[in-house]
Amino acid sequence: MRERPQIAIDGPAGVGKSTIGERVARHLGCLYVDSGAFYRALTVLAVAEQIDPDDDELLAALATSSNIRIVTPTIRDGRQYTVLAGNSDITPILRTLEVEKNVSRVSRHPAVRQALIAQMRAMADDQAVVMVGRDIGTVVLPTADLKIWLTTSIEQRAQRRHSDLVASMGAEAPTLDEVRTEIARRDDKDKAQMQPAPDAYSINNDALTADETVARILTLLHQRSHREAQP
Ligand code: C5P
Repeated sequence: MRERPQIAIDGPAGVGKSTIGERVARHLGCLYVDSGAFYRALTVLAVAEQIDPDDDELLAALATSSNIRIVTPTIRDGRQYTVLAGNSDITPILRTLEVEKNVSRVSRHPAVRQALIAQMRAMADDQAVVMVGRDIGTVVLPTADLKIWLTTSIEQRAQRRHSDLVASMGAEAPTLDEVRTEIARRDDKDKAQMQPAPDAYSINNDALTADETVARILTLLHQRSHREAQP
């Protein structure tokens, strides 16, 4: 185990990676890095500059020249982190409809991924991190100290997301069927990046709360450091 450990948590959309990743990071007192926020940040910049989401050359140039950073929250408005592009705080605009619509197209280009992954790795070199995404254990941090592959059935994911939407949008919320279809569509779009690392621990959290899942991850980490400490 490194002195500044790297923990990778991967899995499809809607399995609770961000809630769980943030709580694990808080327990360990290390930085929480949401890799999706990098792809979302680049999409924000691309939309602002009216770059075509299929133009891999321009997007890769933008990714290389942009200085995207994730830091601990700079404002207390319930956010999990602050995302800076240069000196601008773009956190509030990472989840607009425009970004949702384009992020998968922007992030599928290998040259774009290479540029952003270099920035993610630089963050994990400097400090202990819990990094969440889809390819953290396989590509971004292949030597991470602990790798978790998180899964939840599509039915559970649809129900959880639907309840959140009903709570925030009331009667305007999409139906459960619409939410399920949208999740299946995202899974399909993102599937090229969705392979568990061979050395990842798989956790299905259909019957676990977020805190129970966090407890399981902390136990695995504890067991691993204990095992390594044995002569
Ligand atoms: O996790 P989140 O929903 O914020 O990710 C937004 C999008 O970024 C995903 O739908 C996917 O297209 C892309 N992404 C990716 N690789 C990752 C994390 C996110 O391609 N490691």
